Amino acid sequence: MRLSRPQLPLLSIVAPAYDEADALPLFHEQLTRVLDTLREDFSYEVVYVDDGSTDETPAALARFAREDHRVRYLRLSRNFGHQAALTAGLVHARGEIIISMDTDGQHPPAVIRSLLARWREGYPVVVTLREDHHSLGWFKKLSSRLFYWAMRHCSGMDIRPAAADFRLLTRAPLDALLKLPERHRFLRGMVHWLGFPTAEVTFDAPPRFAGKSKFTLVRMVRLARDGLLSFSRVPLHAAIILAFGLIVASFIGCSSIWLACRPAESWGWLLLAGIVGTHAVAGGLWALLFAVCEYLARIHEQVLNRPLYVIERTSDDDAVVAGKPRVAA
Ligand code: UDP
Ligand code: MG
Repeated sequence: MRLSRPQLPLLSIVAPAYDEADALPLFHEQLTRVLDTLREDFSYEVVYVDDGSTDETPAALARFAREDHRVRYLRLSRNFGHQAALTAGLVHARGEIIISMDTDGQHPPAVIRSLLARWREGYPVVVTLREDHHSLGWFKKLSSRLFYWAMRHCSGMDIRPAAADFRLLTRAPLDALLKLPERHRFLRGMVHWLGFPTAEVTFDAPPRFAGKSKFTLVRMVRLARDGLLSFSRVPLHAAIILAFGLIVASFIGCSSIWLACRPAESWGWLLLAGIVGTHAVAGGLWALLFAVCEYLARIHEQVLNRPLYVIERTSDDDAVVAGKPRVAA
């Protein structure tokens, strides 16, 4: 009697791509080379998410899927942003072990082996820490350090500096993560919040294979704001303290000037003190209003409850159109 081979665990790679047509061929080649070396231990699937690219990314992904039935892709109807695209891929991953990574070559596929080694030690979550490559700009290094410092002090969560969205999750933490309903997603913080035993792997982040970073200053500030506002009420408390402090300081300042000027005729100084005090109080109240509006806008978006992303089509739809229903991985 022939013994059938035990079923191998399914490893899912989830990789979002936004205008990465020039980087994708090399990334895909490196990724499949690494995955093929693991085929004794795992079966695998690759889930690419095209986040509304305007270049040749869709054509590249369609080609990968045509050539290999283990490759699937989702195309979002427009650019929804990295965290939403990543979430879309995670929702569609079918594996028991799921690894998310970028498609620009800055998350080297060879590191997958180190992630799996830590998983074999029994960790359901393995996160990565980026060793800053010398080619990484000073601004990126500085802003990242500043952000994680603020995060640690405001939310009390010890998210390590240089944490990347290159991580391994097993099914239980992934299912728990996908149950978190927030619209403004800061996945690093959310995974940390879940609290599963977590191992760390450091890796050297090389320069991108091609193209430019999509994280402009505005996007970086938005992600940092999402992280801070989702996990902390310190910005609100800081605005309250600032407003209150300015009111007290203005009151003390104006009263002391009034006391000092009373005997003399320097009403001009008194008027100036009044104007400065009024502006200081107004500034504090503006800061408070701004902080309240930020939280209110989040509640508003959450209440609207729109989907995080919209899928325009998937590799399965395209295969049906082409008359070639795909074999499930
Ligand atoms: N990305 C995405 N949607 C976006 C921006 C980026 O799917 O709106 C993808 C991008 O293609 C890459 C990853 O997210 O695979 C990280 O983006 P990028 O390399 O531009 O960020 P950086 O490494 O500079 O932080
Ligand atoms: Mg990158």
